[in-house]
Amino acid sequence: MTLTSRLNNVRQQIRQAEADFNRPSGTVELLAVSKTKPASAIALAYQAGQRHFGENYCQEALAKQQQLGAYAICWHFIGPLQSNKTKLIAQHFDWVHSVENIKIAKRLSEQRPDCLPPLNLCLQVNISDEPSKSGMALSELGEVCRQVMELPRLKLRGVMAIPAPEQDFAKQRLPYRRLYDAVQQIGEGGAALDTFSFGMSDDLQAAIAEGSTLVRIGTAIFGSR
Ligand SMILES: *Cc1c(COP(=O)(O)O)cnc(C)c1O
Repeated sequence: MTLTSRLNNVRQQIRQAEADFNRPSGTVELLAVSKTKPASAIALAYQAGQRHFGENYCQEALAKQQQLGAYAICWHFIGPLQSNKTKLIAQHFDWVHSVENIKIAKRLSEQRPDCLPPLNLCLQVNISDEPSKSGMALSELGEVCRQVMELPRLKLRGVMAIPAPEQDFAKQRLPYRRLYDAVQQIGEGGAALDTFSFGMSDDLQAAIAEGSTLVRIGTAIFGSR
């Protein structure tokens, strides 16, 4: 199968899941996760109409951004965030999904260049109660939201989650539902959030069933890594 037909398959799956779970058509955005894949693969997806791309590793992403300078791509950083990388990320990305604490958010705000619009931001929440997983605890979310909303160079958009892998559809849905419900309860801060960065290649239906507005898909588009 070609990259274009895999991309079209994923689009079809998203539209089908929207229909199956009473989500208005077009409310779930596709983020193509291109980590470890060459700029040429991104260019192919772009030519097929894809505009949002996600990367996990700063240096690798910057090299591809240079090669793809002529393309109007919206770049999302979705990988683990180290303090010594925040400056480059604040300078070269449109979105960051993997912010785990207020300290990193403050750095991103301070380092976001004035000539760029505010950096779109999602807070990563650990919803599987696995100590090894990244993300803040659900109990911290409300307070971190309030603090991030005070930061001038950031635009708090929502939450991101990577639940522990699970085969059963009903079980895939549970952690997403917990987080979705928790966001509704944050109050005024929560109402400003419009992005639920939920779902990967193996659980996009469950994520869309539970309110995802953006699915992050790598393997199903670009093949295995
Ligand atoms: C790699 C990655 C994805 C894409 O995963 P696939 O299973 O290849 O679709 C999504 N989100 C994050 C945070 C990732 O690191």
